[in-house]
Amino acid sequence: MYRQTDPISALKGVGDKTAMSLKKLGVETVGDLIMHLPVRYEDYRPPVTVCDGEVGNVISVKAVICQSPILRRSGRRSILTVTAACDGIPVNMIWFYMPYLKSKLQKGSVFVFRGKLTKTRFGFGFEQPLLYSAEEYEELSGSLMPVFRSGEGITSTKIRKLIRQALDDLEPSEDPIPLFIREKYGLMEKLEAINIMCFPEKKEDILPARRRLVFGEFLDFILGIRKMRQEGSALTNPYDLHRDEITTGFVDRLPFDLTDAQKKVFCEIKSDLTGPTLMKRLLQGDVGSGKTILALLALMLVSENGYQGAMMAPTEVLARQHYDNFTRLFSEYDIPFRLILLTGSMTPKEKRDAREKIASHGADIVIGTHALISEGVKYDRLALVITDEQHRFGVRQRDKLAAKASESGEGDSFMPHIMVMSATPIPRTLAIIIYGDLDISVIDEMPPGRIPVKNCVVGTNYRKKAYDFIKEQLRKGHQAYVVCPKINGEDESEGENVIDYTDVLRENLPPAARVEYLHGKMRPAEKEDIMERFLKGEIDVLVSTTVIEVGVDVANATVMMIEDAQRFGLAQLHQLRGRVGRGKAQSYCIFINGSGDPEKQARLDILNHSNDGFEIAGEDLKMRGPGDVFGIRQSGVLQFAVGDVFTDNMILKEAAEAADIILGL
Ligand code: ADP
Ligand code: MG
Repeated sequence: MYRQTDPISALKGVGDKTAMSLKKLGVETVGDLIMHLPVRYEDYRPPVTVCDGEVGNVISVKAVICQSPILRRSGRRSILTVTAACDGIPVNMIWFYMPYLKSKLQKGSVFVFRGKLTKTRFGFGFEQPLLYSAEEYEELSGSLMPVFRSGEGITSTKIRKLIRQALDDLEPSEDPIPLFIREKYGLMEKLEAINIMCFPEKKEDILPARRRLVFGEFLDFILGIRKMRQEGSALTNPYDLHRDEITTGFVDRLPFDLTDAQKKVFCEIKSDLTGPTLMKRLLQGDVGSGKTILALLALMLVSENGYQGAMMAPTEVLARQHYDNFTRLFSEYDIPFRLILLTGSMTPKEKRDAREKIASHGADIVIGTHALISEGVKYDRLALVITDEQHRFGVRQRDKLAAKASESGEGDSFMPHIMVMSATPIPRTLAIIIYGDLDISVIDEMPPGRIPVKNCVVGTNYRKKAYDFIKEQLRKGHQAYVVCPKINGEDESEGENVIDYTDVLRENLPPAARVEYLHGKMRPAEKEDIMERFLKGEIDVLVSTTVIEVGVDVANATVMMIEDAQRFGLAQLHQLRGRVGRGKAQSYCIFINGSGDPEKQARLDILNHSNDGFEIAGEDLKMRGPGDVFGIRQSGVLQFAVGDVFTDNMILKEAAEAADIILGL
């Protein structure tokens, strides 16, 4: 019998290597494993003929190999092509990096090919199709095959087998949601829900199972927040922060006026800092609305009164960018406060120096990443903690940084003022639930003079034009982003990937164009380096996963091209679009709908018509409706494992209600 707390190595077939691979996916215990739910399901329908298949969709066809396959090499890449006949119609198959398939593809043999159907002037085709014998396919037919997020050294198939093994021999455990709540809201038991999610018999079973898990996840979260609020509610403000001459003098000298919305928020911050109780404020504002300057002003206010302030950013690049910006502003305006940077990728000596400066109050303002909350960092009179782009941080991390303050007083233990900044356009009703422990300020106005980004939503046949367009922008000295949903072609799902796409762009752009890629699985130092070079203009086109979504500011980038845009949530696409249009030049966003599906096109068209994050999120919600299983995790908001605060907002409301019942409120 396995217990959920058992380490993953307790399972048969999990050695050190597999355990390491799983750990990289965040799976360390048997309990983690069974909650590593499928990201989607493969639906194996009987093969069709190519003429019946819709171009752009994943279909299966039965076809006979008509000629011997041809294997070519182009650089590191091997290209295998063969023509097969499906009911007499020729279909061109192509595989990259799979030379070993050659021997299997004997002339005259019959296979079921499964992949996304394409059509060019050379006829129908498949890129990287999966290959089955007729018998193999027959066996899969009609089943819903779960596909799990895989990683280096571990496939979806292996994960599926391990989950089966764990679930088959799992010690029963008590459901964390009390029975009366489950009865009231019609929720099945947790383990049953997990079983159904991982191995559904019918599509209809999935939704209720998923609802149960999302409910549990939201309930946990809300109970945590309610608890924080009870514990931390209305703590007395122990800091004397009434001085503000330097800070307001700085505001007066800035080359621009604060917008009315910014002025209002600045007043709120000032009155929080000088008020009777501690600040706990969420600062919400669309990308580009100018949140950073408000963070700086708040940090300056505490410095001016002899205290320290800290600001935590979700990525190294962002932390460094804030640090550089602030340093430049301070020297330009003769501001006497001392800044220091602390990030994980600094050398041990640099870190030690930084920690010493922080502890001895040789720095007033500390900017950094997670490193700010690591062991060994001691503050001196820390009065304010700001976290940027909150949705990348858990509530727990925010807590941990806050706890740092209580170590930094002399004798007395004080909590700091807390400000959280977010560009996530959550409707106010949801924000109140999610950020229940915070007061909310909204910046609902953009700085004047922004040139709106020009958008288009197009099919894959527009790519050639898009490359020409990028070429033209590069010629004008600008830079471009290209976003793909996947890192590499290894996992079986469809969609463009960063690694191969980088090759494609290098082939399609002039040789002088410097094209590099960036994704979340690269080492931090590598990522740093790439971002740094893009920032300095030493890279022209950055091909990336959504890791660039958060906060970076490269004003010279004027094009954002998003491949398979239909696979992202609209809110997330809006965030990505916010990466351009930050400078004086006209910027462009090209959304490629890789599916050809008109319904998806209609959803993407919302982005064409609106530039307002709140409106977009609302429209998205209306179109997708709650419980859209395959929309899971698309919006990129607050990292829940299963739930999505947009599509599951009904469940969120119910969970909030249930939390009140449990707490007797
Ligand atoms: P975000 O809210 O996305 O964090 P930023 O704080 O990065 O936005 O601001 C985007 C840009 O707008 C920055 O270059 C900033 O200097 C500029 N900015 C901020 N406030 C104003 C303002 N009131 N007038 C003009 N420009 C502003
Ligand atoms: Mg920002």
